[in-house]
Amino acid sequence: MPKKPAKTISIIELISLFFTEQKAVDWLEGVRWGQTPVCAHCGCVENINKSKSKKFTYWCCNCHKQFAVKTNTIMHSSKLSMQKWVVAIYYLLTARKGISSMQLSKELGITHKSAWFMLQRIRESCKQGHFKLSKVVEVDETYMGSKEKNKHSHKKLNSGRGAVGKAAVFGMCERGGKVKAMVVEATNKESLQGTITNNVEKGSTVYTDGHRSYLGLQGYKHSTVNHSAKECVDGMAHTNGIESVWAVLKRGYPCQDFERRVPQHER
Ligand SMILES: [Zn+2]
Repeated sequence: MPKKPAKTISIIELISLFFTEQKAVDWLEGVRWGQTPVCAHCGCVENINKSKSKKFTYWCCNCHKQFAVKTNTIMHSSKLSMQKWVVAIYYLLTARKGISSMQLSKELGITHKSAWFMLQRIRESCKQGHFKLSKVVEVDETYMGSKEKNKHSHKKLNSGRGAVGKAAVFGMCERGGKVKAMVVEATNKESLQGTITNNVEKGSTVYTDGHRSYLGLQGYKHSTVNHSAKECVDGMAHTNGIESVWAVLKRGYPCQDFERRVPQHER
């Protein structure tokens, strides 16, 4: 049977659902607490009063602290409205080609700094903890960060060429499923094969390019794909999945964003 397309809503429907800040807060309160507010500090549901001075805020008579629906969520202590958060989450989840903080700042009419902060928090919350990829997994490495020639002189590393000054990112993409990507310190055999062992179930099929670091990969059905010869698109043996992941990642993290995200000492 053909797969049903995922149910999505349009931006127009989204805006009508969250037309006012009150509507957005009511919605999140319902999702988070149901009918009654639950204290975000002590979990108490009794003796909770609405704050008289602060909108959308409650006072817990049990622990004598105030809280709101944003407390202890990704929106904790953010001054941005719930409406803006909802729209930012919508963009991040639905933009097939990713969204940059610069673009988000224009869409929401907020500063670039605020948009960057929102994206960081939302992305952080999308992390799903420790899991391993399995079955058929495409792996590849790429480099991110500004080209040396485009940097301001005080930021130049002045050594070598090519990948200098860029962060090496290693990605693994399970066919039709999950993706894991991380900054790696080196792209040698020890580093890349170690990362595969830690993140991919033994016995899985692993497709890589011809990089010498993948030679002798143990415990997997390993096939090599030759990018340049365009021979890769023969049915199963290709790395198109991970390559689309790179395209989305690079659109979502323009050079400046990525440089700020990866601390200097880790690059
Ligand atoms: Zn409490």
